[in-house]
Amino acid sequence: MHRKILLGILVVLIIVFVLFKSPFAATYNYNKAKNLYDNGKAELSLAYFEKSHFANPNNSLNRYYYAMALSKSKPTYSVQKKLYELSKNNTNDEAAKLAKSKAFQMRRAILSEIGDNYIFNAASGTDIIRWDVRSFPLKVYIEESNVPKYYFTNIRSALSQWVNRTTFVRFSEVNNEADAQIVIRFKDVDSSVCSGGICKYVVAYTEPTIGSNNMLKKMTLTFYKTNPRNQKFLPPEIYSTALHEIGHTLGLMGHSEKSGDIMYAAQNKSSSTGTSYGSTKLSQRDLKTLVLLYRTKPTITNTYNLNSETFYYAPLIIGTGDEIIQKKIEEYTKYIKSYPQLATGYINLGGAYSDAGDFEKGLQYMSTAEKYAKTDDERFLIYYNKSIMYYNMKNSEKALQYARQAQGIKNDSSIAELIDDIQQMK
Ligand SMILES: [Zn+2]
Repeated sequence: MHRKILLGILVVLIIVFVLFKSPFAATYNYNKAKNLYDNGKAELSLAYFEKSHFANPNNSLNRYYYAMALSKSKPTYSVQKKLYELSKNNTNDEAAKLAKSKAFQMRRAILSEIGDNYIFNAASGTDIIRWDVRSFPLKVYIEESNVPKYYFTNIRSALSQWVNRTTFVRFSEVNNEADAQIVIRFKDVDSSVCSGGICKYVVAYTEPTIGSNNMLKKMTLTFYKTNPRNQKFLPPEIYSTALHEIGHTLGLMGHSEKSGDIMYAAQNKSSSTGTSYGSTKLSQRDLKTLVLLYRTKPTITNTYNLNSETFYYAPLIIGTGDEIIQKKIEEYTKYIKSYPQLATGYINLGGAYSDAGDFEKGLQYMSTAEKYAKTDDERFLIYYNKSIMYYNMKNSEKALQYARQAQGIKNDSSIAELIDDIQQMK
């Protein structure tokens, strides 16, 4: 009886193998695909090229015509993804080179259709963070505060400009903070940002709250009530800062490299440092980048199973991880020049070097960040990042030391998991 079942399973396995994973299946499907392709039916041929590729991923001829057929098909999400994956084939043979150039062409065609944009910088590393448009209008809660009335009116006008200048952004104000997706707060300034009569500070900042399973829970936009000299910010400062930060709350996590854009990095520099308030109008580049962001499949969003064949595939659009890390290093280096006394810049730069595998530089910047760290959140990030870097360098002792320091500040599940991993390495 037992033997019969085993034999049955074996027969099924052999059939499955012959059908899908054998040289026979590879040749059969290739011939079928190539025949369709030669008769001008590129889109119909895809399924057979794919089956042949599954049966024998090393077949260079199949990959070559598979890439050709993909490049001649409608660039749906799956088509972009498959072409990108073929282009990443590490044999680097003729088929991989062809796929690479076809993937590049597809990317250029998509980007030129959208027009000039800075999606490359706007993404958060390799992550695409954005809301599901089906959840619009986004619920906004604006905290009560003793700031001047014009703070509120300028923030509301900035929200309106984003609504009026786009076809899909909608906000609705709510009175209950717990319901809100965007929370706007006001905070007393930290006077320690000044030294020697010079103050380097920001007017506001935005932080995402991301839960487990890459769920985007909320965006918190915090305005300082005054500058470090206890002077109120002027209406245009509040307005242009609000426009910029609302861009962050919509998912434009990075910055533009051009000064005419609202999302330009130095946009929210303060008047007391002698610079202007920046632009008060969203540029075409800001708007096009947002449109592109909302047509790209997110990796972090507020709903489950947000899929569509009309989405863009982020790696095809924004390039490979390496290119992104290089851009980030440039961006954070600039940020540090503008705000040399803020720990955030050093933490981000250290993290980018760590992503690039340069742990020595990563650790150096984390140590500099430690000198400027003012909050527990910053210190937690520094120790956490240091621990990860030492972990990657296989230095379990130091990795554990910093993980414990981070745990002393905030004992969450990510730290417990990290400590587990470190102890298993030992
Ligand atoms: Zn910003």
